[in-house]
Amino acid sequence: MDLTTRLHLLNLIRLSASAESSCRAADRAARRASARRKEAAATRRRLRLQLRTTPSAELDAARQALEDAELAFSARSADTEAAGARWGRAFTASARADARLGDELAVTRELTGSDQPRTKGGRAKAEAALLAELAAMPKKLLDAAHAILVQSSAGKDSVVALDRVVRWAKAAGCLSKVVVVHADIGQEAEWPGVRDLAQQQAERYGLRFMVVKASVGFLGMVEKRGLWPDAQSRLCTSTLKRDEAAKLFTQIVDELGLDDQALIVNCLGIRAAESPSRRKKHELAIDHRASNGRRLVLTWHPVFHLTEEEIWQEIADQALDYHPVYDTLIPRLSCIFCILASFDVLVRAVRLCWVLGLPTPKTYVDLEERIGHRFKNQFSLAQVVEEASRQEAEEGPLTWRRGDAIRHHLGEGAATAYLQRLALAA
Ligand code: SF4
Repeated sequence: MDLTTRLHLLNLIRLSASAESSCRAADRAARRASARRKEAAATRRRLRLQLRTTPSAELDAARQALEDAELAFSARSADTEAAGARWGRAFTASARADARLGDELAVTRELTGSDQPRTKGGRAKAEAALLAELAAMPKKLLDAAHAILVQSSAGKDSVVALDRVVRWAKAAGCLSKVVVVHADIGQEAEWPGVRDLAQQQAERYGLRFMVVKASVGFLGMVEKRGLWPDAQSRLCTSTLKRDEAAKLFTQIVDELGLDDQALIVNCLGIRAAESPSRRKKHELAIDHRASNGRRLVLTWHPVFHLTEEEIWQEIADQALDYHPVYDTLIPRLSCIFCILASFDVLVRAVRLCWVLGLPTPKTYVDLEERIGHRFKNQFSLAQVVEEASRQEAEEGPLTWRRGDAIRHHLGEGAATAYLQRLALAA
């Protein structure tokens, strides 16, 4: 099966999944409308009975209440009918999408070993098989894409993902399609130089660099909600990064000006080893939320299977520039204070802020006090700052040397060689 057919089938799978989810939503809406109609019917019944025993002095008011209830019942009945009709249309669309997918997946047994391509399980198997095959042919996939976006935080995983995508795109002769996207979450929340580094990393390969930014940054979002985000509801990632990147898809597709559906490969530097929730993701996936008739968006994780050591090895081997924050042995170049970071990492971040003369610890502690919500369930930022002060008094200010991150992960020899290669490349 050629690549175009695979992509076509993936799009049919997307349409079938989307039609099914619309059908489910319509079903829920129809049930809600029916429940409201039942409530209105019960009210009408109760008022009709009451009317029989209402004293004549209160009859006018009771008749009016019944009239209102009759009107409410009629309106709820009309809503229920409309919701039922919407569900009917959604059901038909879903059945059609499934039928078309089933017909075109004539090779489904070969792909999935399943005789049930029209079931959710059969569709998921076909999707997984198609995506696994595409992930195994990165150059062909990039060549077929109309646009290749690399979402870069400027962190270690992003820079390796970018370097890999660039090498594959060069080999496929389509480097010009690669665009580096950086989500700016607010200067007051990020380490200094992050945006500039993301830009330099893109410019190293001569790539277009774009920045997306929500109207309200991280701290503004927390102030507005009166809550810090947490691991269960990572609004910071969805609002400040994912939703902004989705707007860019529209811009890119407009720029392409294609008559047919565009294929966008959206690359993210996330790794399975980072967390149990990331382990559940796949190397390549359909972005159902961002895809539509104008674009099929595939999310690709080019460093998904790498360990942290392997990431540092590629940084050393390819002489990739990384942010000096890593040399202080802070493991992720995230927000200065990331809601997912451990207590020890946050303590280190506070001490680094003090060395750099950043006002961030005070800004965050003040905000925490103002909104009356702890930074994390287990501890407050005020406690983090307290522990940082204790360590600072015992050990003095934080110190580090360029190359310490490589030294820590790969040893002294690797760090020396890396710094030499970096100097030569400059
Ligand atoms: S780095 Fe942490 S705090 Fe910042 S946006 Fe990402 S998850 Fe949220």
